[in-house]
Amino acid sequence: MSDDWNVEEELKPLKLKCTSSDCKNGHHSYRPTPKQKAANTVGQCRSCNEMAPFEWERLHKLDPEDLDYTIAALKNELIRQHYWTNEIPQKVENYARRKGVKGMEGAVEKRIRNSMSPPANDFDGRQTPVEDSAKVNAVHFAQHATASCCRKCMEYWHGIPRYHSLTEDEISYLSRLGMRFISERFPLLTETGEKVSPIRKAGKSNTKG
Ligand SMILES: [Zn+2]
Ligand SMILES: [Zn+2]
Repeated sequence: MSDDWNVEEELKPLKLKCTSSDCKNGHHSYRPTPKQKAANTVGQCRSCNEMAPFEWERLHKLDPEDLDYTIAALKNELIRQHYWTNEIPQKVENYARRKGVKGMEGAVEKRIRNSMSPPANDFDGRQTPVEDSAKVNAVHFAQHATASCCRKCMEYWHGIPRYHSLTEDEISYLSRLGMRFISERFPLLTETGEKVSPIRKAGKSNTKG
């Protein structure tokens, strides 16, 4: 056995990517590899090749009445399951509380429409801040959890080709899906938002010189 294996094991905490997996605990990665595309085995885990325990065709119907099924399916992938269960940073929660349900609906829809609708370019995959980024907010959390973070994820999860502009139906479906994340992870939001004081930086004195 090579030493590299142990080194890898000790790295903490490993930065999660869309291609990360933890197959023995049932958390896979379904982004197809070129080899899988060539062999027509898209839809199987890229690491362990196990068949996904759900029907891709059913997800690709983008049926707004079938969001429960889609959400259960998403949770089989490590990166999605992480965002459905990770600790929400205070800053991210405050953002959602200030917006409230209505404000979040607007913010999610606007983000999908303005930032995710154009066809994929070279920057695709890097356009949505991740959890430890200074710029991350609750909309981005929802996007990672529901696979609207980039056009590659949208393509294999939702069956939306990456080189066309999103249609109104697709924008509306992805926005509704994102809002399911918001209501599950931020169950106490007010309808129209509330005042939340900014987080004070630790160690900074409150007195004026
Ligand atoms: Zn796997
Ligand atoms: Zn993505």
